[in-house]
Amino acid sequence: MTESKNPETLVLHAGYRNDPATGAVAVPIYQTTSYQFQDTGHASRLFALQELGNIYTRIMNPTQDTLEQRIAALDGGVAALAVSSGQAASAMAIQNLAWAGDNIVSSTDLYGGTWNLFANTLKQQGIEVRFADPADPESFRKATDDRTRAYYAETLPNPKLRVFPIKEVADIGRPLGIPLIMDNTAAPIICRPFDYGAAINVYSMTKYIGGHGTSIGGIIVDSGTFDWEAAGARHPALNTPDDSYHGAVWTEAVKPLGPIAYIIRARVILLRDLGAAVSPQNAFQFIQGLETLPLRMREHCRNASAVAEYLGKHDKVATVIHPSNQTGEEKRRADAYLNGGYGGLVGFELAGGKAAGQAFIEALKMFYHVANIGDARSLAIHPASTTHSQLSPEDQEATGVSDGYVRLSIGIEHIDDIIADLEQALAAV
Ligand code: PLP
Repeated sequence: MTESKNPETLVLHAGYRNDPATGAVAVPIYQTTSYQFQDTGHASRLFALQELGNIYTRIMNPTQDTLEQRIAALDGGVAALAVSSGQAASAMAIQNLAWAGDNIVSSTDLYGGTWNLFANTLKQQGIEVRFADPADPESFRKATDDRTRAYYAETLPNPKLRVFPIKEVADIGRPLGIPLIMDNTAAPIICRPFDYGAAINVYSMTKYIGGHGTSIGGIIVDSGTFDWEAAGARHPALNTPDDSYHGAVWTEAVKPLGPIAYIIRARVILLRDLGAAVSPQNAFQFIQGLETLPLRMREHCRNASAVAEYLGKHDKVATVIHPSNQTGEEKRRADAYLNGGYGGLVGFELAGGKAAGQAFIEALKMFYHVANIGDARSLAIHPASTTHSQLSPEDQEATGVSDGYVRLSIGIEHIDDIIADLEQALAAV
């Protein structure tokens, strides 16, 4: 346990000191499905949520619990729920508030998987996602009606890498009773969305938090600062009796345990019913990753800024996409919301178009050619011939992907080796 607020300390100490049974300092992998109740009274108190504790690993697990406490502490939140993937975290963060007939308003700048979830699967389930332009925060208000249950956005969305106006949109939502859910996957440590009014964070832990490309996982973090009760009819999921839990009204039932109605409902209803649980093994992997996250983010940011500067001077590079070289309102937002660096992602456009993009990728020797970000290793992809190849040329342009666009996820190797690999691959174009 620690009183510190410093991320470097929190990731090592928050939520766990040593195993009470064995004294183990590393968080044990509690590879168990179930937990012996002390007696029948204990069992019924757990089920009635009069006492929090372990019942069954689909809903909670002690290894998972430490991971959740650490990430909640890191984000300045009150509680968290780890799940089996980033996709599960995004879906559940919304399904915890919105039902058939409801809507949410989302930024257009999204990871492709989230876009599919919003434009197709949630729609098929009766939840409408209305898309708003992040360049104009007021577009969120304009898309809002009585059935709007949440706003949704990514802090540092690729490929455009334009930082989202967190405070501007959170400030529109709060008086209307609408929480802002931020996908902070690309900016852990360097952005704390709760400091700017976001109510809920989601992460794909698969990326920077895991950091080593070994495990898929996601997490939902509750700031504890959103007044669900005051929002009244805006949030029937939290303010009306829940038939599937003895008629519990979550904002009332959970009050003695703290401002955790949202995250408790996500756990005991959605995780119970949908079952996208994180495995204890993977929770352990994420705890290992988390221990060095602040260190790694510093190196990712430092290396990415150096790469952006290098590419900016290269005559085969037409444009560099990185927050460090943005101007005007985009730069103001990057500087207002990112602290200690501009993240590990860099985009650039090759003057030679698609053929140049493909030739560049083929020539890389150290960078991995993968559809991933946030690994300790440097990664590259040419979206026009891979992730975005099914899109029409107009849609590619709208999403910020031109024929010659290359996305780099800069790792923590020595910067000289990163630049050397880019240099020799550019020479081959
Ligand atoms: N959010 C962002 C910003 C992502 O980049 C990704 C995956 O690439 C996800 C969510 C989905 O995460 P996962 O692959 O862990 O399901």
